[in-house]
Amino acid sequence: MSTELFNVADIFGENVFNDTVMQERLPKKVYKNLRKTIEEGKDLDLETADVIAHEMKEWAIEKGATHYTHWFLPLTGVTAEKHDSFISAPLPSGKVLMTFSGKELIKGEPDASSFPSGGLRATFEARGYTAWDCTSPAFVRQDAGGATLCIPTAFCSYTGEALDQKTPLLRSMEAINKEALRLLRLFGNTTSKKVTPSVGAEQEYFLVDAEKFEERKDLIYTGRTLFGAMPPKGQELDDHYFGTIRQRIASFMRDVNIQLWKVGVPAKTQHNEVAPAQHELAPIYTEANIAVDQNQLTMQTLKRVACQHGLKCLLHEKPFAGVNGSGKHDNWSITTDDGINLLDPGKTPHENTQFLLVLACILKAVNKHADLLRESAADPGNDHRLGANEAPPAIISIFLGEQLEDVVEQLISTGEATHSLKGGKLETGVSTLPDLFKDATDRNRTSPFAFTGNKFEFRMVGSRDSIANPNIVLNTIVAEAFADACDILEKADDFDLAVHDLIKEYLTENQRIIFNGNGYSDEWVAEAERRGLPNIKSMVEAIPAITTDKAVELFERFSVFTKAELESRAEIQYEAYAKAINIEARTMIDMASKQFLPAFIKYTKTLADTVNAVKAAGVDASVQTETLKEVSALMAETKAALDNLVKTTADAAAKEEGEVQATYYHTEVVPAMDALRAPVDKLEMIVDKEAWPMPSYGDLIFEV
Ligand code: ADP
Ligand code: MG
Repeated sequence: MSTELFNVADIFGENVFNDTVMQERLPKKVYKNLRKTIEEGKDLDLETADVIAHEMKEWAIEKGATHYTHWFLPLTGVTAEKHDSFISAPLPSGKVLMTFSGKELIKGEPDASSFPSGGLRATFEARGYTAWDCTSPAFVRQDAGGATLCIPTAFCSYTGEALDQKTPLLRSMEAINKEALRLLRLFGNTTSKKVTPSVGAEQEYFLVDAEKFEERKDLIYTGRTLFGAMPPKGQELDDHYFGTIRQRIASFMRDVNIQLWKVGVPAKTQHNEVAPAQHELAPIYTEANIAVDQNQLTMQTLKRVACQHGLKCLLHEKPFAGVNGSGKHDNWSITTDDGINLLDPGKTPHENTQFLLVLACILKAVNKHADLLRESAADPGNDHRLGANEAPPAIISIFLGEQLEDVVEQLISTGEATHSLKGGKLETGVSTLPDLFKDATDRNRTSPFAFTGNKFEFRMVGSRDSIANPNIVLNTIVAEAFADACDILEKADDFDLAVHDLIKEYLTENQRIIFNGNGYSDEWVAEAERRGLPNIKSMVEAIPAITTDKAVELFERFSVFTKAELESRAEIQYEAYAKAINIEARTMIDMASKQFLPAFIKYTKTLADTVNAVKAAGVDASVQTETLKEVSALMAETKAALDNLVKTTADAAAKEEGEVQATYYHTEVVPAMDALRAPVDKLEMIVDKEAWPMPSYGDLIFEV
């Protein structure tokens, strides 16, 4: 734990092989070649790569690195790495050299057979390749295992199919770049050379005490509590505990920030969240693929630093039933290399035709592919969150805010928008305080896809998940809408007229996706159904969206996924779901049979002894007897539910892998788990705390 004071600017990016370092260390020509590759995607020749590799290695060794790793995002959602040390074969002198070639930098060859491929590759065809993504800078990570040079890479099979998240993400970025440039050219922009999606991910997480965590098998094996009753109300207001939380958490956050800043993650905002023990961290936004890598680094760092502080960081979407879960807000906009944000409406959006076209295209894209966006946030943990009155519903809709909705209404009803609502002055009523100028639009916290000034905020993403998928979908569906619009507009004789008509047409046809009201309300669920918007409640029901003809046509058109890749991804999702629920069910079985039932048996014995003793003393023992009866009945219910879960889980394991099995887990095993949890949670409210075999919610959440 470091307490010394320092200047952030001095440490920021000190462990990143960033542009400054490259300029300093690389020969001019090599640097120029590399910039060409980064900016224009030109192939890197081996000679250049050799020089870069050498300099990168020298730099990394100065930072204490002994190993390098091709750092990539396989479809498990966790980053994978295989470490190689820099040493060469021992020389005749008995010494070794530290070497790192261009070939080693550009291409790695991890054994791919242990990563999910969804049938894309039989296990005997183990070859997989990692390729350096030079658009995301390499960095040196320092931890208990020493220092390692991490090289962000893409991961493909021998035949070039994507086995990771980065490859399709980069492909989707190329698609939106191309189509957005077409659109800009139509509006007379001849200067912008590149368009990139910008992303900032707000990350929510919980912190619990490590010792208490270790006493809960459910947290250890599944990342969430599978049993546990909410403590009585009022405890959350106990600010006695708050004082201690603050210091411990503040010191944790400080270390997280330092670690992140060193590896170039611009961690910016941190605050406590709605639930006790819940917090949030947001970086400053950056290019989509870097943001994806940085979010992954952020999650790893949160976990690692938590351990150093005697804490555990829970990234699960729903660690505690009855307590707000964690998500991630994926803030997304589209920016040109010369600093134009295509989502910036300006002060008078009604006059900003280019913005209105972009907006109309996004409405069209989201309306057409709501199922894909929903799927991109599907996760076993998110099944507990979406639609559960704390997170956006499982229905995709768009919040535009008063100002834009008003402009859209004008356009739809009259074909002309003549004015934009103004924000006006916020009178504080205190003469010493300045009057603030209000935004033209209030916030809406319940919308899954909200326009927030100059960006959209996709709020469905699970806290544990990579943000790659949502951004792949966003980039591709918007690229499609841009492409369709350009196909029409490029042929138009009168551009102004054509663009005017197209905006009106898109807005009119897709207005059902706009919803500015309370997304948590039951009325919205009914209203959305009337509008024909999909309400996809679970991960298992969401997965088929990625293999529909509509999805295949979309992703193949922009070369983001082939049909085979999409099918493999669906398989992987089904498998991941089945595995996650299987582990949860088996953990519950283990806890119920080895911890809860033995504790209940002991407790009933104590109660029975008390009843006898009280009776023997000639006193009325009806209260004790009642409690004993109640506990015994719930214990019997627990045992029956346990037996049923054992059987259902065994049945599930015997099902055909893939959709059939995943569906069985969803429709049969999950309810059996709920049935086991219910009596145990009731017992927790009755049984003496001393007799309870593990820390309670109160211990975990309020006593960090
Ligand atoms: P809010 O308060 O609306 O949630 P913040 O300003 O706190 O917004 O930003 C939340 C996240 O959105 C941050 O990670 C921020 O960097 C990111 N962000 C801000 N502007 C943009 C933008 N134009 N494009 C993408 N992300 C953005
Ligand atoms: Mg937000």
